[in-house]
Amino acid sequence: MALMPIGEFARRSRLTPKALRIYDDLGLLRPACTDPRTGYRWYAAEQLDRARLVAWLRHLGMPLARIAVVAALPPAEAADAVAGFWRRVEAEHAARRDLATTLVTHLHGGGTSMTTTPPLRLRWATHSDRGLVREHQQDALRAGEGLFGVADGFGPRTGTGSTALDALAGAVTAPGALVDVLRTAAEHAAAAVRDAAAGTASGTTLTALVWTGSDVALVHVGDSRAYLLRDGELLRLTHDHTVTQRMVDAGELTEAEAATHPQRSILVRALADGAPPDVHAHRVRVGDRYLLCTDGLHTPVPEEAIRAGLRDHPGPDAAVTALAALVREAGAPDDAALVVAEVLAA
Ligand code: MN
Repeated sequence: MALMPIGEFARRSRLTPKALRIYDDLGLLRPACTDPRTGYRWYAAEQLDRARLVAWLRHLGMPLARIAVVAALPPAEAADAVAGFWRRVEAEHAARRDLATTLVTHLHGGGTSMTTTPPLRLRWATHSDRGLVREHQQDALRAGEGLFGVADGFGPRTGTGSTALDALAGAVTAPGALVDVLRTAAEHAAAAVRDAAAGTASGTTLTALVWTGSDVALVHVGDSRAYLLRDGELLRLTHDHTVTQRMVDAGELTEAEAATHPQRSILVRALADGAPPDVHAHRVRVGDRYLLCTDGLHTPVPEEAIRAGLRDHPGPDAAVTALAALVREAGAPDDAALVVAEVLAA
């Protein structure tokens, strides 16, 4: 193996010697050998690809711990990992952009400003099914009067999902800034679920959307999901609060591995455990389709099929029917609840 000094390796990899020293210190790219007396680093030509990959991943903004894992994967798996990372960056970016738009409108005087969009309306459809394996339907849903949500109850006390959605609906009618109202309403829902659980290990996930006529705000805790279909693209608006998602975030699992992991349904957060839910606001567009679903849909059915089911049908009714059929084709191993809402010009 022919070795080259750090200066030459830096030139050929188009990295600076300083960057290479940092990659060495971080364990991302060790030199082939280091002179024990002078500390001078020597590299092999075979390391050039890895050096460039590390540099590109740094440019993408990938966290260092994750780069270390991705750079060690075979190319096809590394490609999956990069694609998964970038999908999440884009979803987060979209959510922040929409929040910024909402804030700009709000700071301009909200409903009275020139930036007000024409009034919009929603049409929606729902589906709830015990599936082919479970004995009870523990998934609850709600749709209408500005509140749409799903909740996947667990534990010996049944009905925690409905309890959460009812309490949320009762509390979101308070006046105030939408995001604050929703946060407070979620605290009411958590308290109601704690009462219903009565000291047992019962609880629920909660993923719900409040609709104001121009904006939506989302509240989310657990592993139910909200998706947005916009311009034919499916964006996941929520982040699963699961052990496996945490491992994906830490770079210990790929998205593909997480989808079939035996611990994929173990929650790290649920509604009544004291941790605050995720809450964010989102500016809607005519033609947007929102999907709220429990893991009874998104665990057995791949995201690509969910995208097609949501996209390729003329309205919420047909989309819900198609998604329900996908669940049954996948064996319906879990109960499922889903809501599809579409934004229309008024
Ligand atoms: Mn479930």
